[in-house]
Amino acid sequence: VRIKGNYPHEIGDLASTLNYMADEIVQSNQVKDDFISSISHELRTPLTGIKGWSETLVSGGFDPEETKLGMSIISKETDRLIGLVEEMLDFSKLQQNQMKLVMGEVNMKELLQETMLNVWAKAEQKHISLNLQPGERPFLVYADGNRLKQVFLNLVDNAIKFSPDGSIISLMITEIAPDKVRISVKDPGIGISPEFLEKVKDRFFQVNPNQGGTGLGLAITQQIVKLHQGEMHIESELDQGTTVSVDLPLLDNQQPSGSLA
Ligand code: ADP
Repeated sequence: VRIKGNYPHEIGDLASTLNYMADEIVQSNQVKDDFISSISHELRTPLTGIKGWSETLVSGGFDPEETKLGMSIISKETDRLIGLVEEMLDFSKLQQNQMKLVMGEVNMKELLQETMLNVWAKAEQKHISLNLQPGERPFLVYADGNRLKQVFLNLVDNAIKFSPDGSIISLMITEIAPDKVRISVKDPGIGISPEFLEKVKDRFFQVNPNQGGTGLGLAITQQIVKLHQGEMHIESELDQGTTVSVDLPLLDNQQPSGSLA
């Protein structure tokens, strides 16, 4: 839809505003179409695996080893489907401002150690080392521990996904102000070019849509960080690597107040 012609000043302004809005709508519809096509593909891949293996197993005649392999693939692919559906549900909850946080006192040092354990096997597959520089204190924050863990799992997951085999990924915790802690995830991976640096935080956006994923991870991560009165920053250089930092308010004087949880 374009509005053309010679109009008085105000109408001309209105026309260009409407043209701008029309462009935005077309663009956002395109983004949604791309998302539907990529999410369909993401859902289809594990479903194909599950269907294939279940049909094969039903036909019978396998030894216990083969049966076990088939069952474990079905279980792994089901986990992948559950993960995708949960990601979509989280996104929709955040969109509608309905994500409920279960707040309590969280020890960031422990949370990052647990995160590393959760992604260890995935890193191993690419011979990637995870290096935690945990700082000297526990760094207590008032937060929803499960949601914060989701944030760092997503960041480390991206770091692994976009780094070559044998890389070293570093997690660092530093106090950047008396009342603020910074947690950084640094990878030596493919990096993000400056034109896409802000866009990667947008919902559905992926630099390379053929690489799998949904493009929702960083959008969810950023919103969860904001719900904790925090900020997320991305620094990156193409072919050099990426550092994503999350700044969070520290609990007063690191003293548990006893009234939280
Ligand atoms: P997904 O990983 O599911 O595609 P994200 O929202 O987590 O969705 O990331 C969006 C896009 O940002 C990715 O597709 C990728 O292009 C880019 N990206 C995110 N993290 C990194 C990273 N550590 N290194 C390089 N590119 C990244």
